[in-house]
Amino acid sequence: MLKFIGSGSAFNTKLGNNSAYYKSGNQMLLIDCGSNVFQRIKENNLLEGIEHIHVLITHTHADHIGSLADLILYTYYSHGEFAKSKVTVHSPFDTGVSEILKLNGCIKGYHHDENLVGGSSDIIIINESLTISFDRNSHVEELNTYNVFILSNKNPIWYSSDCNKISNNVLRVINYGGYKQVYIDTCKADYEGNVHLSLRKLSELIKPEFRDKVWCMHLDEGFNREEAEELGFNVVINEFN
Ligand SMILES: [Zn+2]
Repeated sequence: MLKFIGSGSAFNTKLGNNSAYYKSGNQMLLIDCGSNVFQRIKENNLLEGIEHIHVLITHTHADHIGSLADLILYTYYSHGEFAKSKVTVHSPFDTGVSEILKLNGCIKGYHHDENLVGGSSDIIIINESLTISFDRNSHVEELNTYNVFILSNKNPIWYSSDCNKISNNVLRVINYGGYKQVYIDTCKADYEGNVHLSLRKLSELIKPEFRDKVWCMHLDEGFNREEAEELGFNVVINEFN
């Protein structure tokens, strides 16, 4: 269901900042909008026919929010009807996204702000076939980071965002095949204190029979696609070069 604008880690400029999207009619769901994501969206005409964009922000590292203000201001002034808000930003309030957008000049009016409590009881209803909720993740101490649970046409999808652990609850569901698709931050780098999840650790966590439902994303420069595929995982591919 999800398509990827970028699939790289923060420093993997070749694959671009990790960002996924899904279009439904004239609406678009976008997960994260890192520093080079707006450029890729615009250069590949991704907004053609789109009248409203729901952006989910998982945390405020620049590779996840760096060009969100560009997207908001561009759509307000230069996409479709002039001076009309076309972006709704969904993020738990303690990520601090609203404050960052204000400092970027995105005051109310340019976009809609949905400050959520976070947690599986706080459900965003995009339309009758698409609902979303956020849950806390383990990533870096200095930022509150969230993973995303998507229910699309009754298909459950789990999207890790940046993480170095997977909670036992989520692991249980993955390891009985309960999710239709699972997208997980995976890297080659493997060292104590890593804020991302290594392929070695991932393969220790996920049973081989359910790896065909798992897609590695947020790939670092050393990531070896063939190695992951030989282990039975999928690896996301950018939609555009
Ligand atoms: Zn991060």
